[in-house]
Amino acid sequence: MATKAGLRRIEGRVFIDASGDADLTAYAGFGFETAGEVEPAQTLTTTFRMANVDLARRRALPRAELVRRMTEAAASGRYDLPRREGSDHVTPIEGVTATIMTRLESYRREPDGRIVNITDPDFLTAAEIAGRRQALEYARFLVDCVDGYERAALVALGTQIGIRETRRVYGDYRLTREDVLSARQFDDQIGLCGAPIEDHRAGPDTRWQYLPEGQAVGIPYRTLLVRDAANVLVAGRCFSATHDAHASVRSMAQCMAMGQAAGTAAALAAAAGRDPRDVPVPQPPRPPPAAGAILELRADA
Ligand SMILES: Cc1cc2nc3c(=O)[nH]c(=O)nc-3n(C[C@H](O)[C@H](O)[C@H](O)COP(=O)(O)OP(=O)(O)OC[C@H]3O[C@@H](n4cnc5c(N)ncnc54)[C@H](O)[C@@H]3O)c2cc1C
Repeated sequence: MATKAGLRRIEGRVFIDASGDADLTAYAGFGFETAGEVEPAQTLTTTFRMANVDLARRRALPRAELVRRMTEAAASGRYDLPRREGSDHVTPIEGVTATIMTRLESYRREPDGRIVNITDPDFLTAAEIAGRRQALEYARFLVDCVDGYERAALVALGTQIGIRETRRVYGDYRLTREDVLSARQFDDQIGLCGAPIEDHRAGPDTRWQYLPEGQAVGIPYRTLLVRDAANVLVAGRCFSATHDAHASVRSMAQCMAMGQAAGTAAALAAAAGRDPRDVPVPQPPRPPPAAGAILELRADA
């Protein structure tokens, strides 16, 4: 471990890599996929907050009109807005909104095929600078062009640029797009995810693909077990999934469920002197389908 006091050696029976970027897995030499290798990686976003927003006036502006104005402002050449459908959200503080609007490329491919992303300190620094510049541009657009923002001002930038995807480990199982879109259930699932595949690729829009109405995909425990290691689990956005499956299951609540499961499994394994692979994952009885679902099935039959 690298600390202010220099390098420290840490020993343990079981390790959990919750670094988002699978740092432990990468340093240990275990297998992972770098986002961008197979499919385009998700972009970066510097979030920012605006204060003194007239929320009543802002709420009266439909989303489609916000998108239209963004598109028009970008086309005019007066504003540099790579993404044309970002969102702004109310916060617990009256008159303060939080935005998810900026969009930056999260990697580049070198001539030798190597991918450079924010795990490279120089790339990260450049992205932080560019993201903050872009945030100022979106704030200028909001003040100039969006109802309710006329007297608003930018008051905060995200402490760090928002990173969606860097390294995804190879686990004992790799969750796929087909698993997500068919809401597949697993014998060893430790959580559920109903979030759509939300793919923030480079370009003006975001691609959304939804699971069947009212259904959720299971998150197998095996996606947290690092394939090449005996005693390493992961939790969070570096879990074992393809690009598309990750674009659904990387959501916050699902990352928390993974953390709960990995922590519990690691504690059970350490206490019993067992391999995390041997920790049983008992499944609670699944509730019968809701009455509406039964009626729908009968109607289809
Ligand atoms: C702009 C943006 C908007 C989003 N919006 C939503 C949303 O509306 N809803 C939703 O559900 N999800 C959203 N997500 C997705 C979600 O927030 C993330 O996928 C999720 O929070 C990832 O959690 P994590 O703990 O795996 O990784 P991270 O949140 O990246 O946390 C990793 C932690 O590990 C620490 N760390 C990293 N490396 C090391 C190291 N070497 N040593 C020690 N510590 C280290 C970091 O400091 C950090 O605290 C959004 C993501 C972004 C970027």
